[in-house]
Amino acid sequence: MNTAHWHTLIATTLLALAAFFGNMASINLFFGVDLIFGSVAVILAALLFGIIPAVVVAVTGSIYTLLLWGHPYAMVIFTAEALIVAWLYRHKQLNPVIGDALFWLIAGAPLIYFFYSSVMAMPPEAVTTILFKQPLNGILNALIAGILILLVQFLYPSNRSLPQQGVKTPEVLFYSFLALVLTAGATPIVYDAHTHMQEEQNRLSQQLAEDNRRLITHIDDRQLGYHRYWTTENKDTLAQAMLIGQNRPFLQSGTLKSLSRDGQLQRIHDSFSVWLPFGEMSQMQRWREGRYVRRDSVEHASDITGVVSELPAAPVIDSVQTKYITLFTLLTLILALGVLVSMALSRWLTAPIRALTRASEALDQRIAGHEAIELPSSNIIEFQQLSETLGGMSQRLSQSLDQLHRSRETVQQQVDERTSELNKTARLLRSVLEAATEFAIIATDPRGRIILSNSGAEKLLGYSASELYDNTPALFHAPEEIPEPVSSNDPDQDGIFSRIVSRALEQGLDARAWTFITKDGERIPVWLTITPIRSESGELTGYLGIAEDITERKRLDRMKNEFISTVSHELRTPLTSISGALGLINQGATGELPGKAQQMADLAYRNTQHLSALVNDLLDMEKLVSGKVRMTLRQENIHDITREALENSSTFADQKKVLLDMEAPDEKLYAKVDRQRLIQALSNLLSNAIKFSPAGAPVMVKFKRDGEGLAIQVHDQGPGIPEHFHHRIFQRFSQVNTADNRKQPGTGLGLAITRSLMTQMGGSAGFESVEGQGSTFWLWLPQQ
Ligand code: ADP
Repeated sequence: MNTAHWHTLIATTLLALAAFFGNMASINLFFGVDLIFGSVAVILAALLFGIIPAVVVAVTGSIYTLLLWGHPYAMVIFTAEALIVAWLYRHKQLNPVIGDALFWLIAGAPLIYFFYSSVMAMPPEAVTTILFKQPLNGILNALIAGILILLVQFLYPSNRSLPQQGVKTPEVLFYSFLALVLTAGATPIVYDAHTHMQEEQNRLSQQLAEDNRRLITHIDDRQLGYHRYWTTENKDTLAQAMLIGQNRPFLQSGTLKSLSRDGQLQRIHDSFSVWLPFGEMSQMQRWREGRYVRRDSVEHASDITGVVSELPAAPVIDSVQTKYITLFTLLTLILALGVLVSMALSRWLTAPIRALTRASEALDQRIAGHEAIELPSSNIIEFQQLSETLGGMSQRLSQSLDQLHRSRETVQQQVDERTSELNKTARLLRSVLEAATEFAIIATDPRGRIILSNSGAEKLLGYSASELYDNTPALFHAPEEIPEPVSSNDPDQDGIFSRIVSRALEQGLDARAWTFITKDGERIPVWLTITPIRSESGELTGYLGIAEDITERKRLDRMKNEFISTVSHELRTPLTSISGALGLINQGATGELPGKAQQMADLAYRNTQHLSALVNDLLDMEKLVSGKVRMTLRQENIHDITREALENSSTFADQKKVLLDMEAPDEKLYAKVDRQRLIQALSNLLSNAIKFSPAGAPVMVKFKRDGEGLAIQVHDQGPGIPEHFHHRIFQRFSQVNTADNRKQPGTGLGLAITRSLMTQMGGSAGFESVEGQGSTFWLWLPQQ
């Protein structure tokens, strides 16, 4: 047996006790008719615990009626009542009041008639009274039990042992209406019954007082008066006596039951009492055999102490009972009407709520299914308002849901499109990555952890993609190339990475040569371009590194440079002697040459001059590229240097009939330069300007200062540089390829050497030109 069973057992026991005492505690409705309350407990047990506990409580409760009324029939009827009400409530969900009414109508009333009339042979009026009283009492108790349960359900809506959690509006309405109707209907009726009884008794009391008074007037003429009195006044019903002493009749007429038989005298008021006999009989029967008695004391006669008159109670009882039957009929009608009206009213009032509830139950599906929303209308304003509010709300909900659906579809479509685009891009990117087998491509997160690498990276580094994954590029960077930490921070892997990418982060891109160390420990020179990757909002999301193996390129460069330097060195010595010899021949040191030979010697001399210029340029270039040129930087007067360069070029300018001039600077211009190298660079620009200027045109040198440095500008009015050639002009061996320009001699190395020289001095070289409008080439030098 678990706790719930224990609870039921304890509660049933308590209810059984309540039933017993409830029957004991009676309220006198009218005379001889008491209301008893045991069945409140019975119906509570039926509602809360079911049929068996209800029957147990009913039997226990009606033990009292067995003792009180001395017959077992009430017990049978009450037990049947508990059984039926509990069953109807449990299995047919029938309200206990209606269940009880049904029981009395169908089973209770016939049982009463059978037991009380046939078995116990009670007089019809008594049977009729019981026939009314028991059902009324039962239904009243069912109403009390129903209201109690309702109260508990309302106060403790989550208690699990209650038949239902919370209260239902129809029940509240039903019980309230019924209680109201019953109270309003019964009060005047009960009051009327009491008044009627009182009036009857008062009338009787007065009559007996009159009888006593008349008897007293005859006390003196005892013999004569006595006879005349009795014969004239005596009636069948009235019994009278004069009393001597305490209770002894002296003269009497009729039988004074209160003096002669065992019974109980109940005082009603003053000297008016009712006498009821003892013995086995029902309460009603007792009253029928009872008498109303009035005693009045007599003072002036010495032996006669008082007079007493008695009238049978039966006529009063009969009249009262006839009255009761009418009243009970009325009460029953009121009750029946009350039940019907309460039921109808509660149904009618709650019908709109039920309809609304039903309509709302399917509301979500209707809204989701885009069906029309129809809510019931009502004549009750509040319900109508509720219905309209709900309707409006549903409408708006439906609209919002529609919008939501639509936007969800659009979003879904967009997501699908984007996803497929993304997939396409991802596939494309993958294949691009994989196709670039000669490039190692590696992407990292902002902290340097590798999140992506291509097969080129695997090939170059010898690590598999999974080995690279989650490592940082510190794994394969030659440690000695990694910049020193700025502060003495802990040189952990992330720290190393941040030093590798620091320049890329500052400049937005970092492309330069590095050395990678492969898994096998081999050192590979690479050209690595590092780019920080940023989101649209500018937030750093990672880095991309693209590395190319430049072992081969470096080898070729080295070979080329070595070749050029060997060739140049090998050529320079013989060329110098050839040129010297040809110069001597040309000047006639070997005697005069015949005209044709002189021409050929001239040509040969010019060509050797040209060739040695090329060789010199090549050697210069090679030296510059291999870093063999040593600069001696000194603070120099730039104006002087420029004048020297101009003087060097003056012969050539004269030859070409070009007007070479220099702007006089406002102040003395100084910069830290290598004097000879600056003259070389300037001479290159001047020789180009002269070379490309038409005869008679000026070549002008100007000086321009800006905050940090100084520019030497060479202006000419030559053909200018075609737009398509601008980006290549400083590259080695590049010459503008026009029919016109081809006539000019040159190696295509001058500008490359010039820029290289300027860079090594910490300066730069550049130009501005529009084709057909001349050019301005400039050298820029930093000034402290
Ligand atoms: P080169 O020895 O051929 O002059 P440079 O490197 O000095 O070699 O010049 C490269 C080319 O640039 C020239 O061949 C010419 O086509 C063009 N160039 C240089 N300076 C000028 C200029 N002042 N006017 C027009 N074209 C020029």
